[in-house]
Amino acid sequence: MRRSEILNWLRETDAGRLEELWRLADRTRQQYVGGEVHLRGLIELSNHCVRLCGYCGLRAGNTALQRYRMSDDEVLDCARRAVEYGYGTVVLQSGEDPLLTRERMSGLIRRIKAETPMAVTLSLGERADDELAEWRRAGADRYLLRFETSNRELFARIHPPRADQISLLPQAGEGSVFRTAAKRNNRLAILETLRDLGYEVGSGAMIGIPGQTYDDLADDIELFGRLDLDMVGVGPYLRHPKTPLADRRNWPEAPEGEQVPVDETMTCKVVALTRLACPRANIPATTALATLNTANGRELGLARGANVVMPNVTPKKYRILYEIYPDKACIAETGRECRRCLIERIEALGRRLGSGRGDSPNYQQRSAADGAGRGGGPTAAPTREMRGKKC
Ligand code: SF4
Repeated sequence: MRRSEILNWLRETDAGRLEELWRLADRTRQQYVGGEVHLRGLIELSNHCVRLCGYCGLRAGNTALQRYRMSDDEVLDCARRAVEYGYGTVVLQSGEDPLLTRERMSGLIRRIKAETPMAVTLSLGERADDELAEWRRAGADRYLLRFETSNRELFARIHPPRADQISLLPQAGEGSVFRTAAKRNNRLAILETLRDLGYEVGSGAMIGIPGQTYDDLADDIELFGRLDLDMVGVGPYLRHPKTPLADRRNWPEAPEGEQVPVDETMTCKVVALTRLACPRANIPATTALATLNTANGRELGLARGANVVMPNVTPKKYRILYEIYPDKACIAETGRECRRCLIERIEALGRRLGSGRGDSPNYQQRSAADGAGRGGGPTAAPTREMRGKKC
């Protein structure tokens, strides 16, 4: 898809024309990933975080938040429940928590892989190469790390680096798509490391960040395609009152008429365009979209390009404390209620529940093209990095 087409769709306001986009995305989803909807059991294992992301309620600066870290046994209980519910994947998500050490996480991953048949997806923030390699050796299958925005300045503004790290995206045109300075802890470099280690690689962006323009968002969608992502998650920016971004007085504005709005239609446009940019990727209908529209946000996402939903299996007492943004959808339901509700919604759309692990067709295709080595799943031959060499 040409850039001008992406921009035109992002700016389109005619409901009749937008029906064409929804149809095109839905047809593409059916053609490349089929009618199944895969459910992933989400475990939010810790809300500790050392980072200061400007939009996130888990940021280290939010001293009002009560912090928790689940024990390994609690995580295992949740994983067993996910198996009971018929989920083929468990997603271990947390803030950037240094006490989720390399050793602790690899032990946990090994236990889940030994005791359940599920795929394991990690979403633990920006982590060191040796940790990512060790967790892959332990059996982790997938890793999610959203780059949030490809606009370098905006990224830097909302992701202040830790004192000991520089966390910036490379500028457009600087070297390879992924990497400009390999030793810089930047998210695109980490995505490349994940790819080299044989993970299924997921990333994504936020929609409607204050200061984000239509051009920025078109860049993000183009970058999804260039990165050849296996999973792409996109969701609206939702204001958390205890974050710097909630106070717009000192925040640079986008030029008049260029600010991306935060609404359901814009989110659906990005889901649909992402499906066109990455036809074989697994794309979730996110909780953030369901929060914007609690009545049928998830259904709209699924009807406009998405094929994955991530029901929460975290115990309720912790779930309420994993507050990246307030008033999150599906916070009060038990895991069982959540599952029942989602199945009803999926079946009402005429779609069916996915079975098995639900690996990304994009990953499967790349693995087949790469042969038995890179990307061949947890039992694949060690990659260069897994043999201890630098890429
Ligand atoms: S977005 Fe992630 S890394 Fe940033 S503050 Fe929130 S939990 Fe931490």
